Amino acid sequence: MTIRNARHPFYDFCDEALAGIRKQGRYRTFTPLARDAERYPVYEEALPEGDVSREVVVWSSNDYLGMGVEPEVCEAAISAIREHGAGAGGTRNIAGTSPLHKALEAELAALHGKEAGLLFGSGYVSNQASLLTILTSMPGWICFSDRLNHASMIAGIKGARGSTTVIYEHNDLADLEAKLAAAPADAPKLIAFESVYSMDGDISDIAGTCALARKYNAMTYIDEVHAVGLYGEQGGGVTQRDGVADQVDIIEGTLAKGFGVHGGYITASSQIVDYLRSTASGFIFTTSLPPSVVAAALASVQMVRAQNWRREKMFERVNTFRAKMRAAGVEFTMTPSHIVPVPVGHAERCKVISKRLLNEYGLYATPINYPTVPQGTERLRLTPGPFHTDEMMDEMVAALKILLAEVPLAAFANEPALT
Ligand code: PMP
Repeated sequence: MTIRNARHPFYDFCDEALAGIRKQGRYRTFTPLARDAERYPVYEEALPEGDVSREVVVWSSNDYLGMGVEPEVCEAAISAIREHGAGAGGTRNIAGTSPLHKALEAELAALHGKEAGLLFGSGYVSNQASLLTILTSMPGWICFSDRLNHASMIAGIKGARGSTTVIYEHNDLADLEAKLAAAPADAPKLIAFESVYSMDGDISDIAGTCALARKYNAMTYIDEVHAVGLYGEQGGGVTQRDGVADQVDIIEGTLAKGFGVHGGYITASSQIVDYLRSTASGFIFTTSLPPSVVAAALASVQMVRAQNWRREKMFERVNTFRAKMRAAGVEFTMTPSHIVPVPVGHAERCKVISKRLLNEYGLYATPINYPTVPQGTERLRLTPGPFHTDEMMDEMVAALKILLAEVPLAAFANEPALT
């Protein structure tokens, strides 16, 4: 229990800010869901009435391939704990670098065809720390940032005092070129973008972006967080699929989505990695990833690289789900990726449908609302994976068909728009 410091205005500020967030319908609540490692994507939802729980099929997991429940991956974590203990015990510099860390960095560099790799505590930290460090290195940096870049990239870019940020329209190479051409020719430039954009499920033109980067002597930084493990013949992301990994200076990824474990990384030339290793605060001053996490991630990356059938299975499931949605006449947005957005169009409607899916059907699909996406484009974001059976799909399609009709958009026409 904290003794409230009645005089400090921040306590009142929090109360008021939270009341405002509630009023706007943006107050976040978390559904406690325990993953059943043997029956993924089935989870146990803890219900408020004592120790009662029930089964829920999750449709919004970012463990796209289910690698986080793979017995070999879990075994790698368990044996690493037995052999090396639960925590890393220090920062990378202070006895926190094990042979496992080195092996995983080498594996990731090989996956992306780069000279070196560097691990971070999460994908968020890898973006924030790398971009911040690069953009505060030399004077005069200009960062060209796609309008829909992830919050972690924006945190690094915005935090880089002394650098200039130029936002270009999402996936709009004409706009990017106009902005590159307007910038001083001799300023150091960086283009920061993603491959798969996770909310819309669209994919950037990496070759086109790199061609512009060459023309205007800009460096390129790509976030492949929603692509690693899933695209390319070894899961090296869209850069691998498109054969352009060598054209991108820095490839960033996570170990927490396609690889199902935890942690973030970058891969690049040895001098860039060496520079970030030596200067990035978010890399240096934090305890390194625990051995269990690194061992599990290493096992996962090795399996995902070698086992193309996992990717094939996922896309077969995604296509089957889309076919079932189409056959039932349930609207969804067709994307070139594995992501299936279902447009809902209003924050309250999105919440009601998501809640009823959970309460009445035991199906979990996260509502994606403003400010994550623009108002009027609220949606459910579904990520079918290798473990979603035909039966599970039929249940989801039927439930969506009923709820989208029973909870029409028109019913929310007079609800105040969120600001
Ligand atoms: N980049 C993008 C595009 C993301 O969507 C996310 C996570 N949602 C991250 C980076 C951060 O990755 P991590 O979850 O490993 O911190």
